Amino acid sequence: MISTEQVSFDQQHIWHPYSSMINPPPTYPVESARGVRIKLADGRELIDGMASWWSVIHGYNHPELNQAAHQQIDKMSHVMFGGLTHEPAIELCKKLVEMTPSSLDKVFLADSGSVAVEVALKMAIQYQHARGKPEKHKLITIRNGYHGDTFGAMAVCDPVTGMHEIFSGTLPKQFFAPAPQTRFEQAWDENDITPLQSLLAQNHDQIAALILEPIVQGAGGMRFYSAEYLRQARTLCDEYDVLLIADEIATGFGRSGRLFACEHAGIEPDILCLGKAITGGYMTLAATLTSSHIGETISAGGAGCFMHGPTFMGNPLACAVANKSLELLVNNDWQSNVQRIENGLKAGLLEAKNLAKVADVRVLGAIGVIEMKEAVNTSEIQKLFIERGLWIRPFGKLVYVMPPFIMQDEDLATLTSGMVESVAAYQY
Ligand SMILES: *Cc1c(COP(=O)(O)O)cnc(C)c1O
Repeated sequence: MISTEQVSFDQQHIWHPYSSMINPPPTYPVESARGVRIKLADGRELIDGMASWWSVIHGYNHPELNQAAHQQIDKMSHVMFGGLTHEPAIELCKKLVEMTPSSLDKVFLADSGSVAVEVALKMAIQYQHARGKPEKHKLITIRNGYHGDTFGAMAVCDPVTGMHEIFSGTLPKQFFAPAPQTRFEQAWDENDITPLQSLLAQNHDQIAALILEPIVQGAGGMRFYSAEYLRQARTLCDEYDVLLIADEIATGFGRSGRLFACEHAGIEPDILCLGKAITGGYMTLAATLTSSHIGETISAGGAGCFMHGPTFMGNPLACAVANKSLELLVNNDWQSNVQRIENGLKAGLLEAKNLAKVADVRVLGAIGVIEMKEAVNTSEIQKLFIERGLWIRPFGKLVYVMPPFIMQDEDLATLTSGMVESVAAYQY
């Protein structure tokens, strides 16, 4: 049992994500987690609405994922990937090549989502350099994006929510088009693509790649935008000789209702970033995939190789668990589960539209969002969720859930009704 001394050490000494060291918000000690339930140290059990930030798609403490980890750890937990290789990495990369669009067949195993994005950006820039276009070294993106917290990734995050002004002395300045305004499945407005088109028309000779989150903009606003925007962005990239990087770190592996969100638009990116759900939320691992053409062009360039290689690249333990996680995904009929959760989220959340403090409610795949008219105090509204036995962590105006795919209807109904009740009860 965790002691009060330990909890106070945590408050005084440990950074949590985006936390303050002078008024640290409360952090709830967790004892264990199983299935869709997180057990707090004081014995309370919470139904998990967050899947630990998109990743725990099969639930916690899954017997088969546990077994995969146990079996691998008895062989080797880690071995360097420079000059050595191993079955877990090979089998994982085979699956990734098979699952993703057919043009993507070279895999770089990275150690976190942000690193997968750095790798994608470097690939794009090294590619342009290798084909004799070193002046094409800038990036273009859309506002409201989120691509990670390292410098290269941060430079293509939304400049406002990403607080670019603090880092402006160090951050490279990239091109930003406005966020797409046409919502998913809303009638297409031709004008929506015009700003991206003009930026590309004017600056394409400096631009290596367009990076975006396909269909679902996650941490930058939980916005679902038109597949037509994505299709036209793909066409513009071809027209202006700019690579398309799809950051599917949040959307990959079924979350949006398609295995990859690019499928909603029927397009293929030149470079694809994956992460989050890849190990079923067991440990950190990510991947960046690209085509043979790009891989070979980079390798034929001045450096003679791709300039990246993390210490923990291809970690066998993470790869072994990822292999099992992808096997479970395919074998457990993720489509029906995601569809079932989409139906449950719609049935449970749409009524919140009638609340005066709610600006919008939207659902896509296994993602449900209540957007408030004003930002909520996360710690305060969290108390209301916890009283109702739920784990939900809003940010800003966004109260949202992306449950594990295994969540059954009864728990899902408890989650959505408790979410709506808490929003209704919340006092600004
Ligand atoms: C979470 C996320 C990242 C960053 O991944 P980390 O593993 O947190 O570094 C990048 N892009 C998108 C779309 C994400 O959702």
